Amino acid sequence: MDCQRSDYLPLTRKEQKTCWFRQRSSCSRRVSGKRFPETLGANMSVSSRELQDRPNEAAISPVFGSQAIQLKFADEVGPRIRARISYAFRVFASIYGYRVVEEGQPLGTGVSLFYGCKPRVFDDGISVFVPARYRPREDDAGERKSARGRYANESIFLFFGTDDSTHSPDWLGEIFEWLSSDHERSIIQRDSIGRIPFSGSIFSAEQISPRKPYAMLVMSWLQNMLQNRGRVESLPRATSPAADSEHFVVSSHDIDFYYTTKLSALARLLKNLAVSITEFRSWSSCGWNARCIFKTLAGKRVGEYLPGLIDESRRYDFRSTVFVVSERKHRRDPEYLPEDLASHLLACESAEFSLGLHGSYKSVIEEQNLLREAVAMQAALGTKPLGTRQHWLRFGDHQQFFEVVESSGFVYDSTLGFAEAAGFRNGACFAFPPYDFRNEKAHEFLEIPLVLMDGNIAASSRATGEKADAIADEILKESRKWGWGGIAADWHNPLEPLQVPEEINQIFWKCVKNQSHNREKWVSASQFMTRCLSRYHNAGLLGGVRLDA
Ligand SMILES: [Zn+2]
Repeated sequence: MDCQRSDYLPLTRKEQKTCWFRQRSSCSRRVSGKRFPETLGANMSVSSRELQDRPNEAAISPVFGSQAIQLKFADEVGPRIRARISYAFRVFASIYGYRVVEEGQPLGTGVSLFYGCKPRVFDDGISVFVPARYRPREDDAGERKSARGRYANESIFLFFGTDDSTHSPDWLGEIFEWLSSDHERSIIQRDSIGRIPFSGSIFSAEQISPRKPYAMLVMSWLQNMLQNRGRVESLPRATSPAADSEHFVVSSHDIDFYYTTKLSALARLLKNLAVSITEFRSWSSCGWNARCIFKTLAGKRVGEYLPGLIDESRRYDFRSTVFVVSERKHRRDPEYLPEDLASHLLACESAEFSLGLHGSYKSVIEEQNLLREAVAMQAALGTKPLGTRQHWLRFGDHQQFFEVVESSGFVYDSTLGFAEAAGFRNGACFAFPPYDFRNEKAHEFLEIPLVLMDGNIAASSRATGEKADAIADEILKESRKWGWGGIAADWHNPLEPLQVPEEINQIFWKCVKNQSHNREKWVSASQFMTRCLSRYHNAGLLGGVRLDA
């Protein structure tokens, strides 16, 4: 039987003064018991050799001297909660560079966490008690007691509040709730595209900022308990797994429009002209599109930007990931096919870019056909896409989507972000394997959360009145402050203001030009995975993803 805990009680005034947190509100969500059919047949069995073959990896440091860490459970904690807490623990260990020692194995000189309902005091200097406050949403009667407060001068949000006697949160339960997307599983609201809208999210419901990486802050607090025994309030930063940079941004470009014919280019420009007036209210964008119509009539190949991007990537020393649609079955899908762009895409690959699949509009919700689309892309280009991102960020349900991604053999996905708001959808400024609720274990692929996109920065700016570059700055600074990144940024076409006004594209160029000043690298997805994969392996995650396969 799973662990039970007493209900959260409001604190007395005296306790409120001494405790970090105050009860704020309760939130009620309906739990969905919906199950989905098994999807897709044969595993595409993607080899990761392409990762191994990437040049320019000499600067990667080996995993050395990782401190051992172990998680122990009290007897009263049942198997389902053990599986979930163990997953959160392993992601924490990956980000902070610990080597996980399984329960029952000798720990040596490592540190340990003890997860249980009854408070335990350890004076051995190596063990930290974690109060078992997590409760599966499906066991809730619909009531949850969230809390917010401050720790080390940072705003912290907690799904499960704090323990009455130790005043500590269930750090691991909090991490699980954010990373598993459990807080989104009960949302039944969908927008006109079929997505969970930002307005239905935890950020909207609880009025918390999506620009704070809450899961990372809780992780950092836990690290402080291990590192400093919690004697001082501090939030230690997680150090990078690679010697060549302190922070990684996975740069990417979804190809939603590319030059194929003069007619399709003109149609796009006319549509843009209307959008720049009605939606963006940008006279610069309006003027650019109007001028471009005349240039296209005179022979300019608008939207043919990849050769120019490759040149600029060498000039400013960044690499990217290009996501390509391989099927056209809906009016919202792009008008090209991979073979139309083959020479440019292969040039990208030669320039150390990654090529990923941009799952078509109907690929997951209606058809669950990412495997077929990946095979079509491979047939057209002769190269296997290792990762994917949904066109329009469109998926209806996390479990269904993740099962399609995993069974299609992808080693990474980069879809988890909101189209309408920039920020950390899972509270994560790091990459993590999503959680598989059907099998109660981690999925075998890495989610590289999409925190910045040209469109969602523009949308956030329009919604809040803040400057777009200030929004991007704030998000990147948060990520740099606490960890080593592993977040994705997506500028559809940073060379031409076809998707967004020019000032939004300039944010991309400012970032790649300032990489060394910010002690960070903008890299392709494959470059990123090569640098970080051993961290996850050392923690017992992503065992099926190997660089030497
Ligand atoms: Zn797209």
